[in-house]
Amino acid sequence: MTIKDAMNLLRKKGYKMTDRREEILKFFSDEAENKYKTAKDLYDHMEKRYPGISYDTVYRNLHLYHELGILESTELDGEKHFRMTCGGSHHHHFICKICGTTKKLNFCPMDYVSKLLGQYIIDDHKFEVYGLCPKCITTN
Ligand SMILES: [Zn+2]
Ligand SMILES: [Zn+2]
Ligand SMILES: [Zn+2]
Repeated sequence: MTIKDAMNLLRKKGYKMTDRREEILKFFSDEAENKYKTAKDLYDHMEKRYPGISYDTVYRNLHLYHELGILESTELDGEKHFRMTCGGSHHHHFICKICGTTKKLNFCPMDYVSKLLGQYIIDDHKFEVYGLCPKCITTN
């Protein structure tokens, strides 16, 4: 999802676009890196630009974006991490355990899984692959 798409969605849902809300989108739309980041990463970034901003304000917006589907989340090392939703057709991710970089996998194992399950009804699924990205392999 691009910043523009996210801003349009927020407006459509009746949310006011403020500098701070836009800054949060910018923080997550660093497309070259495509990394998962924590609430603390975001707060540290926002605190530099808006000294004295409350953690609560940052956290509330983070969860609003997650609820609206602008951000997607995963748990790494027992902590929730967030990134901009990719959009496009259904796919999954490889996630680097060290730096949080993601790589899109245009693959879904559910065709195979639904065959194994037979008559069960599948509601939802989650599939993530973890490891080291090429950059982290060479620096570790
Ligand atoms: Zn994706
Ligand atoms: Zn990495
Ligand atoms: Zn899938």
